[in-house]
Amino acid sequence: MRGSAVVIGAGIAGLATARGLLDAGWTVHVLERSPGLPGTGTALGMWPEAMRALDQLGVGGQVRAGSVEQRGARLLRPDGTEIARLGPGRTVRLVPRPALLAALAEGLPPDVIAWNAPVTDHGALPAADVVVAADGIHSPARAALFGVAPRPLGTVALRGTVPGAAHGATETWGPARLFGITPHDAERTNWFASVRADVLGSAGAGHDDPQVLHRLYGDWHPDVRRVLDALDGTAIDRRTLFDVPPLPSHVQGRTALLGDAAHGMAPNLGRGACEALIDATTLVGALTAAPDVPGALHRYDAARRRPTTRTVRLARAANSVSTARHLLPVRNVVVAGAARLS
Ligand SMILES: Cc1cc2nc3c(=O)[nH]c(=O)nc-3n(C[C@H](O)[C@H](O)[C@H](O)COP(=O)(O)OP(=O)(O)OC[C@H]3O[C@@H](n4cnc5c(N)ncnc54)[C@H](O)[C@@H]3O)c2cc1C
Repeated sequence: MRGSAVVIGAGIAGLATARGLLDAGWTVHVLERSPGLPGTGTALGMWPEAMRALDQLGVGGQVRAGSVEQRGARLLRPDGTEIARLGPGRTVRLVPRPALLAALAEGLPPDVIAWNAPVTDHGALPAADVVVAADGIHSPARAALFGVAPRPLGTVALRGTVPGAAHGATETWGPARLFGITPHDAERTNWFASVRADVLGSAGAGHDDPQVLHRLYGDWHPDVRRVLDALDGTAIDRRTLFDVPPLPSHVQGRTALLGDAAHGMAPNLGRGACEALIDATTLVGALTAAPDVPGALHRYDAARRRPTTRTVRLARAANSVSTARHLLPVRNVVVAGAARLS
């Protein structure tokens, strides 16, 4: 089937869907509230399933060329001793978010994306066969259609990049907080921290983010301290973390919710953007194969809602376990055992 689509949001889910539908001969208009693609951002881990989706969209080669391969990661205690090795058999590609978005947007006809075009009234969208709501975790479309707001996870994420290459990936778990380090590219290191909100509040009152990070992590192992020492003059992204409660459907009428709008999740499994890409290729496949829009949207919902709901639940649990305050030796033994089995 061919038709027309309005896409709300030029993030990962929106651009991937727009690209796939345009390639299939659809007419597509993307409405994005921001003025253009971001110029800066940290690296996203892309699992093999997401790389396959990017291959389907014709940009896998370009994304691989601008990415770094990561094989497994080490899970450490604050003193640097090892709790476990995670996912040694699986390869993740670390892709800077701006590079991923640029690859998805490259080659799209110039009139496809309207920048500075926030959607304020879901009932007043341009006419189209399908509306793709890819407007992120605070999705106004989800609020309008389902009346569902995201729920706070009780944690705050800080992240950025610092000069100097990282060798390998580590995640260090302490009481009520964690610190992750991965490669960004040949010249920079990607870092992320997650802290229980109340701990951040009391540790951070009256201080800027680098000082807060020094307070929280300044006595951790040397790799963490190397990142802290390189923070000066770098941008730090701080955001309160949320996830999306299970929805009765990812479809309402002619609208499909994709990506974080449908299943925003804790970042701890590194899966949100990957699932957004798989949503996009699944929806494009359903819309191009089915004879009518309702049938295609039903197929999309049937294929994606259950697995993504499960991933949201697992990510929530990972967020909670990784920033636990008590019984840390017990937690670490259980996690090490689980890692050996996986
Ligand atoms: C700290 C952290 C680390 C992460 N690490 C990983 C990782 O390693 N791997 C991974 O797969 N995922 C990761 N994620 C998750 C990933 O960032 C998200 O899942 C992904 O960005 C979701 O893409 P999206 O397109 O659904 O939403 P977004 O990227 O949020 O895009 C939504 C777009 O919609 C636009 N928009 C919103 N409202 C409107 C409106 N009313 N009108 C018009 N436009 C609108 C926004 O401006 C934005 O451009 C991480 C997340 C966090 C917070």
